[in-house]
Order: sequence, then structure tokens, then C-alpha cells
Amino acid sequence: MAEGLLVIGAGPAGLAAALAASDAGMAVTLVDAQPEPGGQIWRGQWSGEARGAARAIFADLRRSAVTLRLERRVIAAPKPGCISVCGPSGPEQLPYDRLVLATGARERFLPFPGWTLPGVLGAGGLQALVKDGLDVRGRRVVVGGSGPLLLAVAAHLRAKGAHVLAVAEQAPRHALWGLAPELLRRPRLLTQGLGFLGLPLRHDAWVTRAEGDAQLRRIHFRTPSGTQVVEADLLAVGFGLISNLELPMLLGCACEGGRVTIDAAQRTSLPHVFAAGEPTGVGGVEKALAEGRVAGLMAAGREAEAARFAPEAERGRAWARALETAFAQRPELRELPEPSTILCRCEDVPVGEVQSLERGRDARLHARCGMGRCQGRTCGPAAEFLFGWAPGGPRLPLVPTTFADLVGGLSDPEQP
Ligand SMILES: Cc1cc2nc3c(=O)[nH]c(=O)nc-3n(C[C@H](O)[C@H](O)[C@H](O)COP(=O)(O)OP(=O)(O)OC[C@H]3O[C@@H](n4cnc5c(N)ncnc54)[C@H](O)[C@@H]3O)c2cc1C
Repeated sequence: MAEGLLVIGAGPAGLAAALAASDAGMAVTLVDAQPEPGGQIWRGQWSGEARGAARAIFADLRRSAVTLRLERRVIAAPKPGCISVCGPSGPEQLPYDRLVLATGARERFLPFPGWTLPGVLGAGGLQALVKDGLDVRGRRVVVGGSGPLLLAVAAHLRAKGAHVLAVAEQAPRHALWGLAPELLRRPRLLTQGLGFLGLPLRHDAWVTRAEGDAQLRRIHFRTPSGTQVVEADLLAVGFGLISNLELPMLLGCACEGGRVTIDAAQRTSLPHVFAAGEPTGVGGVEKALAEGRVAGLMAAGREAEAARFAPEAERGRAWARALETAFAQRPELRELPEPSTILCRCEDVPVGEVQSLERGRDARLHARCGMGRCQGRTCGPAAEFLFGWAPGGPRLPLVPTTFADLVGGLSDPEQP
């Protein structure tokens, strides 16, 4: 019997896929680890005030026949056609005929002295806390790292009453000129850019050190005119986004260059498995929506309709490639950590303890680097950049899980 479509991730890509397939008559289940749909960009808008595209999509979702399974994290894929999740009611096995992977992206962190001090947060992480109610009125904030998210975060913090002292973007100004032709084709982004006017943006600038005692006090950052030191309460720092590929890799989808490999119709290398949004390249909300729509229609067998939206999805991927080139990390960032700087913050492993090793596997075996709660999601990409280690594969369970959930979630109930 047909079990229908399972969509993992209720951000813009997963929502667009679920609604397109449901409108086409498919039975759709939409799973997300968060308590509300909306992903990163529309966080808090499901129960709060939804704006713009989120408002229309949430209204459609409320009217639709899509089954929402929220607060459920995928932990394993015990057999083809079945995903294990754990949530408030324990482990569950969700069967599917077709699968859309829309698992989004996370921030990339690079270590520098002081990056583990209280008051130093991920740029998107601080924004998420503010969206969830953290009061930053009157707080002195420096935003640093790389990528368009920095400006979005700085503008959000400013709108919430923070004093944004500097936005330190490591990419050189000239590298961003390459974005101009793509930007001219995207009037929405140009309009969005108006909201960034007046922000104290510095190009060719990056944080080299954070200092404090029990709390962040001072930030050193390098600029073309020399090192500057500012007193600040918060540092929001992130070096772009990394696609969440653990689940696609666990399933066996081909991945290359940090992305799931797809064709023009969002098909992965596995039959009946599609990918949309940030896992196919970090390109923003319009790309996520277009790709999600194509994936949902393809899953529902509406190939001709899907083909109508495919060019928009391809334009989104071109934008993602342009962003990746423009905001590439500069080699000087490899010199930021000192031997005593923490690399793996779950297991307190300093850079000096592992930097002479050849592989991430050796670092896990000898120093427990990457063996903690985040399972190497933070230190793994940092070590790839710092030492050139090959990316690690996914580990089971995909997220930390209780023993009871583990037993229920990893086993195949049809096997004795
Ligand atoms: C921290 C952060 C903040 C951002 N802030 C902005 C912003 O202010 N403005 C902006 O334009 N863009 C922002 N972005 C970029 C934005 O996320 C993208 O432009 C776009 O929304 C991506 O949509 P998506 O559906 O591909 O992914 P997402 O919106 O990231 O949605 C992916 C969803 O998948 C779920 N998920 C992932 N893995 C699992 C799993 N194993 N089990 C269950 N659920 C899972 C996640 O909980 C998430 O809800 C931000 C990105 C990040 C990482």
C-alpha cells in the first residue's frame, strides 16, 4: 500500500514541497525537530505574527491535509523506505514511498582565542535567541565572520535596540563585485539591502581575539588600517553556513563539494528521494521555495508542472555558487587559533593536541575530538578548514538520544 510522501525539515523548502505534493493529492507527513514549522528564517512566526511569504504559506499549511510531526528528530534510517525519529512520545518509525530531504544548514564556526567565552555566540544563534525573546536593548554588539547572514543579523539586532559597533566581514570588497550581475536580477534582494544602510560594515576585517573573564569584555579585530580593539557585551560570529548532509549521507545519497548531488528535477542519486533547499547549496529563501516546489511536484508525479518551476530553482543554485565564491574563507583565518585555543568545545580539546594528526579519525581515537554531544558538527568543519582533514561521515544515532529511544529507533520492528 502507498505510504505517501515524507518530508524532513519544515523550513521554506520542506513547506513548499509538502504543500505542492499535498495540493497534488498526495498523503504528506512533514517532520521537524523544532516545535513549530518555519525553519530558521521564519522562526517564531507560526505562533507569532507571520509576515510576507510566511503568512501565505502558513495559511495554506493550516488549510492543508499535511500531517505535521513536530519536535521529532531523525535519528536513523533502519531500512529502505523507513525513517526513525524520536520525540515527545518516544521513538517512532515513519514509512514512506517518496522522501524529500529539506534539512537546511547550520553556521560554520572557526576557532580563535576567546571564542568560547560567555557573550560570544553564533551570529544566527544570537538572532534566534532574540527572535525567541532575548532583550538586547542597549547592548554593545560586534557582528563578525562572513556571508550575507551577518548583515541580516546586524540589522535585526539594531532594530531590537542593540548598539551594533561593527560588522566585520572577512571577504574583500572586490570579491563581492562578482555578485553584482546576479543581484541585478534579484530586485527583492536589492530592496532588502536598503535595510542594511547605515550599518558599520568593514570589509577585509575579521575578529582575531575575544577577551574577558567570566564574560566577554573586549574584541580585537583586524582591518586594512590595523588592529582595532572595542569594548563590547556581545560578539555574534559565524563564517557562513554549511549544508546539513548527515541524513542524506546516511541514506547513501551522492554528495559532492558539501552539497547533495541532484539533477534539474531535484532527484538525488537514490530513487524516490529528492532534496531541496540548503542541502543542495546555500542560496537563501527564494531558492529553497523554488526547489521545494519542484521536489514536491516531482514526488507527486507532476513532472510537467515541476518543469515550469525548475528554471527558477536553477537560478537559485547559480546564486548559491556565486555566494560561495564571493565569501570564500581567506587563508589567514587558519592562523587565528593558538595551540591552547579550544577546537572541540564538547570535549575541551585544544588545537595543539590534534593539529599534528593526519585525520579526523585519529583525533577522535586519541583525543576524543568530535566525540561529544554535537558529534563533530562544530569542530569537524573547522578542522577540515584548519588542517585539510577529509569530511567525516554521519554517525548513528544522528543526534544524541536516550538509551530507550535508541533501542526502539535503531531496530527494524519486522525483524525478530
Ligand atoms: C541560524 C540561521 C539563521 C538564519 N537567519 C536568516 C535570516 O535572518 N534571513 C535570511 O534571509 N536567511 C536566514 N538564514 C538562511 C535561511 O535559513 C535560508 O535562506 C532558508 O530559509 C533555508 O530554508 P531551508 O528550508 O532550506 O532550511 P531551514 O530553514 O534551515 O529549515 C530546515 C529545517 O530542517 C529541520 N531539520 C534539520 N535536520 C533535521 C532532522 N535530522 N530531523 C528533523 N528536522 C530536521 C530544522 O529543524 C529546520 O527547521 C538563516 C540560516 C541559519 C542557519
